[in-house]
This record gives sequence, structure tokens and C-alpha cells, in this order.
Amino acid sequence: MESILTRSQCLELDRQDTLAPLRSFFNLPSGEIYFNGNSLGPLPRATTDRLLGLISQEWGVDLIRSWNKFGWIDMPQVVGNKIARLVGAGQNELIVADSTSVNLYKVLYSALTRQQGMRKGRHVVLTEADNFPSDIYIAQSVCQDCGAELRLLDDPDRIESALDDQVSVLMLTQVNYRSAYLHDMQRLTGLAHEAGALTIWDLAHSAGALPVNLLESNADYAVGCGYKFLCGGPGAPAFVWINPRLADQSRNPLRGWLSHTEPFRFTASYIPAQGIGSFQCGTPPILALAALECGVDALLSAEALGGMERIKQKGQLLAEQLINGIKDLEMDYGVSLVSPEAPQKRGSQISLSLDGPLTGAGYSVMQALIARGVTGDFRSGDSKRNDRPDILRFGITPLTLRHVDIHDALGHFRQVLDKEEWRSTLYQKIEKVT
Ligand SMILES: *Cc1c(COP(=O)(O)O)cnc(C)c1O
Repeated sequence: MESILTRSQCLELDRQDTLAPLRSFFNLPSGEIYFNGNSLGPLPRATTDRLLGLISQEWGVDLIRSWNKFGWIDMPQVVGNKIARLVGAGQNELIVADSTSVNLYKVLYSALTRQQGMRKGRHVVLTEADNFPSDIYIAQSVCQDCGAELRLLDDPDRIESALDDQVSVLMLTQVNYRSAYLHDMQRLTGLAHEAGALTIWDLAHSAGALPVNLLESNADYAVGCGYKFLCGGPGAPAFVWINPRLADQSRNPLRGWLSHTEPFRFTASYIPAQGIGSFQCGTPPILALAALECGVDALLSAEALGGMERIKQKGQLLAEQLINGIKDLEMDYGVSLVSPEAPQKRGSQISLSLDGPLTGAGYSVMQALIARGVTGDFRSGDSKRNDRPDILRFGITPLTLRHVDIHDALGHFRQVLDKEEWRSTLYQKIEKVT
């Protein structure tokens, strides 16, 4: 698919698309071309009724009895088991709890203290300077508390050579939130193990976007986000997974009562639950869990159609179409691709930077696109660093995006640039959330 597709070619591709029927599982306003499923997944249609029913019947009528009657108490594990099917984990190995940041704290603390007990002299946590800031801040705080050193790498190709005998934990986000660079989880996990290190994988931009195989990769720990590609709703709870060969020897530093093997014994002596159950902390957010389950169910409904492998395949076709269109814009304007061009090195997102007369206009260009119904987002760069430009992000969610949407979005993009719409004062005010 080298040339630019015509609109009717796009409509034909959409007609042939076996995933097309799943688009109706989501609620999208008409005219909305949504590229932000990497940040807040769209609303599954089932969610509204599920939450209304939960509120009016389960909470409203059955009240506290619902913890047993409707299995609320088991929901973190039930929904966790569904997410496990999307990320190549086994049953009862993955649980929904807390936020991604909090789960990262729990597993990094756990991995580091385990290593400190077994491999004295290893005191380094290795990650990337370009990792999501929350991951870096959490690692800084765990390292401070545990007397460890955080090493930040500037170049993803340097990870292999940085795995020396001081490294205790390699903590990576599989898909970079800015560039969409995709790490090879299996290879890096193998290299880390050979070097005597444990691995923690943040799947915030992988779960529900790409096939992930935690067990086959022999990863050690993983965390991931519920509100991005899993469509769990704003602030949805996150998940945490521990390889079963480590789960029973991993200690959760946040020992809330629900991490106890028998929380309803209300005893002062602490006995952790078996396996991943010990990585819960406090009472689960039932409304949010129910919403997350609807999002995960929508993704699982693709299982009969080829599942995550098919979702990835469609995502790559959409991304390729977008990249081809961007190349066309690149010749006329200073728009360039920041994401890796090779699909096997890229997550489900296209990131662009702007040069020449458009330098510094990224935020306004995105606002002008949003005003036209093309919703992506903006991540500011570092004006002192050429390798860290401002970025426009376009998340690709194959269950809702169509070829015709990519076609139309590219048309809008050209209009915004041709007519210099981004110069309008309407698009200059920087909001709290970008
Ligand atoms: C989105 C994201 C998070 C978000 O963490 P929260 O605790 O849910 O706010 C963390 N890490 C990465 C890599 C992310 O992309």
C-alpha cells in the first residue's frame, strides 16, 4: 500500500474488514475521528447499562449483600483473568488493583528487595530517560527507600550493553508513550536474566493494542493501565502480574487488609494471600471495575476473529496509511514522523513533530485538528534538546478506526496547514490537560 488511497478505496477496505462489526460495540459521537484511545479509550456501549444496573440494583437495592451476591469481592481476580487472556498470562496470575504508578511501586520494591536478599552488591535499577515520568519518579522513590541507584539510559539500543553485573532490575515500558518505540520483550528479558537481573514491564501502551506474551517471554513482573487501550474509563484501575515462579516469594510493600489470606478474620497477625492475591491492597473500586470489565469484554469479543494478532494487523494497515499520507504532507510542510517506520518496532501510535515555519506550533495545530473532530493529543518536548521535540500523538485503535477515518483525518490535517487555521487565537490557550 504505497500510494495514497482514494476515499472509495478506503470504503471498500472497510467493507472487507472482518473486525468492522465490532465498531458498533462503542459509542462515538458522529463526526468524531478519535485518535486518543491510547490515552482514554472510547466508551463501550455496554458500559452505560452495566453501571446503571450496578448502581440501581446492586448498590441501591442489595446494598452490602452485593459483595457476596454479585461477587464484588472476586471482581479484581475475575477481571484480571480476562485481561490475562489479552497479555499471554495464565489464570489467577494477574489481578486488577490500584493505579499503574502504585502497582509499579509495589513490584519494583518487591523485585529490588528480593534481589538485595539474594544477590548482594547489585544495587542498580536500569530504565530509560525517556520512560513515562511517573515510572521514573516511582523508581526514584523506591531507589531512595532501598538504597539503590537509578540509571537512566538515553538510547534504547544501549540497554543490552548496560546490563552489567551491578544491575538488579531492568524496568521498561514496552511501548514508549512519546515515540511509540516498541521493545522486544522476549529478547531483553532473556538478556536481563543472563546478566542476573529481573525484569519489570509496563504494558500501559501494549495491553489491548498489541499481542503480548508474558509467559512465553518469561518476564518477571508486569503492570498495565486500564483506561487506555482497555477502554475502562477515566481513572480505571490498573493491573499487576507476577510470573508464577516468583509470585509466592514476592513481598508486597503495601500490605493492605485485602492482601491478607483471610481478610475477614480481622487478625493482627499478617499472613499474605497466596500468589497474586497478595498484591491487592485496599477495597477495590467496584463501579470502576465493572466499567473496566466492559472494555475488556469488547476487546475479547475479537477473540473469535483472530484476537490481538488480528487487531495488530489491522492497526498496522491503518498506521501505514497514515504514514503514507504524512509523507505527502512532509514534502509540503515540515511535518515528520517521530515513530519508528518499521511496523515491528512500533506500538499502536503515530507520533509527529513539526519543523520549519511550524516549529513551536504543535499545540495549536492539534487544537485546530480537534476543532475539526480529529482528536489526538500533544506532548511537549524539551526546547534545549533536538532529540526531544514537541510531539503530536495519534493513537490507533483498530476496533473503532476505519480506513475512511484516516483518509478524512489527513484531509483535515492538510486544511489546517493550508489555511493556517492553527494561527487562530482560539487555539493558543494551553489547557491543564494537553
Ligand atoms: C499512562 C501511563 C501511566 C499512568 O499511570 P497512572 O498511575 O495510571 O496515572 C504510567 N506509566 C506509563 C508508561 C503510562 O503510559
